[in-house]
Amino acid sequence: MKIAILSGKGGTGKTFASVNLACVAQKAVYLDCDVEEPNGHLFFNPQNITKQKTTVLLPEINNDKCDGCRKCVDFCKFNALAFVSGKVKVFDEICHSCSGCFLICPQKAIEEKPKQIGMVQTGYFNNVKVVTGIMNAGEASGVPIIKDVLKMSDDDALTVIDCPPGSACTVMESIESADFCVIVAEPTVFGVHNFLMVYELVTLLKKPFGVIVNKVESFENQMKELCDKNQINIIEQIPYSYELAKLTSMGKIAVEESEEIKKKFVNILEKIKSEVKG
Ligand code: SF4
Ligand code: SF4
Repeated sequence: MKIAILSGKGGTGKTFASVNLACVAQKAVYLDCDVEEPNGHLFFNPQNITKQKTTVLLPEINNDKCDGCRKCVDFCKFNALAFVSGKVKVFDEICHSCSGCFLICPQKAIEEKPKQIGMVQTGYFNNVKVVTGIMNAGEASGVPIIKDVLKMSDDDALTVIDCPPGSACTVMESIESADFCVIVAEPTVFGVHNFLMVYELVTLLKKPFGVIVNKVESFENQMKELCDKNQINIIEQIPYSYELAKLTSMGKIAVEESEEIKKKFVNILEKIKSEVKG
């Protein structure tokens, strides 16, 4: 079973939920697809690390063969090619590696050269295989790294996908294969606003989902009001706790430290399993 954990913004508790959910499973694979700022590994401190490069192909112009027809420039919808001083110039930073220019060049004047844009790091913590996607600074898209991270899932284990925050194409890529989505949201007006962006995405993609309302305080819970009004499934509400915040800030895994939190996450996992079984 694959569970994707999402949130409308960073800091809601997405990684907290992902890490703790993976830890209460008998066997789990934790996939950190938040490739711009992966931080799940800070909690796991995984051992026996292996690394694998993620590369994309970029066009390289062979000026001896190019006759200056500019068909490649007209074709590129990302404006990653320009015809400057009689030559085709490639802007690597905005190329999406679609291979289109390579395929349409009538003179076969375009070759493709690999470029490393990041890496996938794999290690182990107890019953959890910890897979972390890491994008190099300045790269345009983390999607190729996310694709490589997702290949590391295991059908015999619970796969927990820690998605990037928001609702961009990287999030779409991360949840595509998920059996169930969990949206982590805060109970405030701001939390509701951020929730709605992700809610729109999961409903558009027709994904079954539920909500964890995190950092609940007794005086305000507009997320619960919204969910009740729209019959949205709340899987769990986690009260705001100074102790929990302290554990998290120290890089500790809450279910390893607190029986109460462990029971909560075991319960969350059981609820998700029964939702998936239908
Ligand atoms: S399509 Fe090929 S031949 Fe035409 S400008 Fe581009 S690289 Fe040169
Ligand atoms: S590979 Fe695609 S995105 Fe990159 S320059 Fe060629 S057409 Fe443009």
